[in-house]
Amino acid sequence: MQLITVEDIIAKLGSEYSEEDKALIIKATEFAIIAHEGQKRSTGEDYVQHPLNVALTLAELRMDTATIVAGILHDVPEDTPYSIDDIKKDFGKEIARLIDGVTKIGTLKYRGLERYAENLRRMLMAMISDVRVIIIKFADRLHNLKTLEGVRPDKRERIALETLEIYAPIANRLGIDQLRGELEDLAFQYAYPKEYAWVRELAQHKILTDSKIIDHIKKRTQKELVAENIPVAYIGGRLKRYYSTYKKLLRKGKDIDKIYDFIAIRIIVKNPVDCYRVLGIVHKLWTPIRGRIKDYVAQPKPNGYQSLHTTVFGEKGKIVEFQIRDETMHALAEYGVAAHWFYKELGSKNIDLEKMPWIKDLISIQKSLKDNTAYLEKIKLDIFNERIFVFTPNGDVIDLPKEATPVDFAYHIHTDVGNQCVGAMVNDRIVSLDTILKNGDLVEITINKHRTKPNEDWLSFVKTSIAKDKIKQSLKSDRKKLLTSLLKKSS
Ligand code: MN
Repeated sequence: MQLITVEDIIAKLGSEYSEEDKALIIKATEFAIIAHEGQKRSTGEDYVQHPLNVALTLAELRMDTATIVAGILHDVPEDTPYSIDDIKKDFGKEIARLIDGVTKIGTLKYRGLERYAENLRRMLMAMISDVRVIIIKFADRLHNLKTLEGVRPDKRERIALETLEIYAPIANRLGIDQLRGELEDLAFQYAYPKEYAWVRELAQHKILTDSKIIDHIKKRTQKELVAENIPVAYIGGRLKRYYSTYKKLLRKGKDIDKIYDFIAIRIIVKNPVDCYRVLGIVHKLWTPIRGRIKDYVAQPKPNGYQSLHTTVFGEKGKIVEFQIRDETMHALAEYGVAAHWFYKELGSKNIDLEKMPWIKDLISIQKSLKDNTAYLEKIKLDIFNERIFVFTPNGDVIDLPKEATPVDFAYHIHTDVGNQCVGAMVNDRIVSLDTILKNGDLVEITINKHRTKPNEDWLSFVKTSIAKDKIKQSLKSDRKKLLTSLLKKSS
């Protein structure tokens, strides 16, 4: 592995970093070198190589100076004679607070499910207090995965699994696709070595057989875009990552030929309007497959992802997916919340995570539960299962777990809508309340204002814990009322 120095970090910084910023980064590096003096990594290198690599990743993400400095010093309080107060004295409150956040996530003594739940809880709490803490933690985990060779096999597997089960889903929810992909693929080979080897072989073979024709399709599209005078920032093949491919293979009968976006063609243009012009051109060149056109530009995914997707019968009937977006959408797709630092023009660093609906759900679940195991079960159910996106009649996107029903949808909108729900329409058709919703469904709930309590049977099919809790609550309070009125009558 290549040794890095503070110059490598400085070299990544753009013109928006001042001389003082650079001086602070150099000062932090000198501090870290002294603090970690004599310590080695399991790979045999000087320990300080680890925090420097973490800081390099953060610099590549163009995070602010405080975050980069916190990356350099993140292991100081835990592993060296220097304390968080020493850091506060030399580097100020903000940096000390970030490092304290990283340290608090820390390492855990629990085992099994207990450990998993506690870890998850700490990550989420840190994230809500300052999302930069979690981004440092991701960079930390990334380098630990890259240097996993030197680690004991049982510990290696634990770190890899934890990455797949906790880190990657959170990165996904924050829309940091680039880091998520890297974390997943590094962890995949340690967590499931056989499966990794299988996917790698399938993928390499597929690339060999398909790349020529994909290149053809790309060139023909490119020619047409030039003819139509559409400025293009980028056009090229994008390969699906191994771990995502693996998960999709399991869903598609292990047949890689059924994964149409394994090699997708990605086109990045200059503005949103050009996205639609490109879509038109692609459809003029090739026949689109019905039901596979997705407009995430007009209807972004809840984590902010925007793009147009379409799957077409390309050259010689070859089925291929196109992903069309502009440069800002691309930044958001790759960097998610981190894009707010990466592309400074996207605006303030005070991203209000608490406004994101899934974070709101997490906080409310967290508040209502004390016991870790129960917390974990709910979280797993609601947050990390695969999600579907459905629409309200106003075109708002509602994000629900897979297999959610109209009743889950109703309670997601409002408790009263849930309690008064008497019917549902999906895509303008009347359906039963236990119908399983699908991605892209337009859902409309019929309510009856005179109805005040939910149907107990709903408990047998609802999927979200929010719906379950609210149904139980309403039934309970209903019984209480009934009981009180009965008592009144008898007295
Ligand atoms: Mn570390």
